[in-house]
Order: sequence, then C-alpha cells, then structure tokens
Amino acid sequence: MKIPKQINTYCPFCRKHTAHKVRQQRKNPARSLSWGQRQFLRVQKGYGSQPRSEQRTFAKTTKKATLILECTECGKKHVRSWPRTKRLRVGE
Ligand SMILES: [Zn+2]
Repeated sequence: MKIPKQINTYCPFCRKHTAHKVRQQRKNPARSLSWGQRQFLRVQKGYGSQPRSEQRTFAKTTKKATLILECTECGKKHVRSWPRTKRLRVGE
C-alpha cells in the first residue's frame, strides 16, 4: 500500500484540518547499556541455548503499522494506527 508524504487531516492541537507530514514508525535499536540488554547478553554468553525460546511459527502473515503525523502549522506530532498490510510505502 502506498501513502503520500503529505496528507490533509485533523490536527487535535489546532482543532482543524491541516497538512501533515507522514512517516512510518520504526523500531529503535536496542540500548546496549540498559539493564535488560546487559542481562540478555550475560545470559547468552558461553554454552547453552537462548534465554527465551525463539518463535519459529507465525500465525499472521502481515503486520500492523503506526504512522507518525506531524502538523505543518504547529509542528506537533500525533500517531495513527494503520490496518494490516504486507508492505507499506510512504512517499511514493
Ligand atoms: Zn497543528
């Protein structure tokens, strides 16, 4: 599914329809010094298997997406969930 880079939609801060810049929310890289990540790396060291079992089978073939909408008038951002799609392209 293709979504334009800029859409006209409701801004809850301006309380009216304005132009919004669209981008897709991506997963941030793991912080290497956070407590959970240090614990994970320590448990993974040496012999033995994974601390948690790896998921091999997936029931769903698609993923839900989250769009970040940035208002061009006030500059504030809000998010919108997007229905399940195999592939999402913003700005094409
Ligand atoms: Zn606004």
